[in-house]
Amino acid sequence: MIEVRGLNKRFGDTYALRDVDLDVAKGEVVVVIGPSGSGKSTLCRCLNRLESPTSGQVRIDGRPLPAEGRELARLRADVGMVFQSFNLFQHKTVLDNLTLAPMKVRGVGRAEAERTARELLDRVGIGGHAAKLPAQLSGGQQQRAAIARALAMRPKAMLFDEPTSALDPEMVGEVLDVMTALARDGMTMVVVTHEMGFARKVADRVVFMADGEIVETGAPEAFFDSPATDRARDFLAKVL
Ligand code: ATP
Ligand code: MG
Repeated sequence: MIEVRGLNKRFGDTYALRDVDLDVAKGEVVVVIGPSGSGKSTLCRCLNRLESPTSGQVRIDGRPLPAEGRELARLRADVGMVFQSFNLFQHKTVLDNLTLAPMKVRGVGRAEAERTARELLDRVGIGGHAAKLPAQLSGGQQQRAAIARALAMRPKAMLFDEPTSALDPEMVGEVLDVMTALARDGMTMVVVTHEMGFARKVADRVVFMADGEIVETGAPEAFFDSPATDRARDFLAKVL
């Protein structure tokens, strides 16, 4: 579903990604962890070309990510992204946030877009808030709206970059619950998170990054209980 081959990203003298290879199978949940500055966000951003790699390839469903244009817009729509900051359109209602892109990019009619949007808002537990502006919602509700907005495009895969890091602690659970349900429904997901409980419970595979490289990858039990590298052990000692 997602294939990454020999991906490098340099910012000036900084190597944000070095020779990253990664395969994410359909329906697989990959959780990416690692210290600050290890390249987790850069990897996510390269997966839908919010960032263009210095070299290497990303393929979605066997098709290389094009550099620009209509083809890129279409492939990008297949890979939903949820950020730490909720990135909702602040001057649009929650419902409009969910219907705009499907109508514009996918050519869906308004009635169908609204029906899908209301279903998705129900699914993430905020069906009663469709007519509100984002600022009228709590952080957890806004992040659930952002997830619903990404799902409204009917993506083939979802990327999450620290989706709960900006939330008050009491709201983290409600967002992780939505993500867990999505994973159980078979969504292909790449999740950057510091929530080790989520990683252990929901991940099919954990990818540990340091200094722009994938240092270790494995099933969650194996990774958390007996990490193979010193760097992973040191990291886990700090966060667990
Ligand atoms: P964090 O856990 O703090 O979010 P991260 O693992 O997501 O960190 P990245 O944001 O991917 O790390 O950054 C990887 C490296 O690339 C860092 O050294 C960072 O300073 C650098 N970097 C990222 N984006 C840019 C940019 N736009 N310009 C210059 N350097 C950048
Ligand atoms: Mg980051």
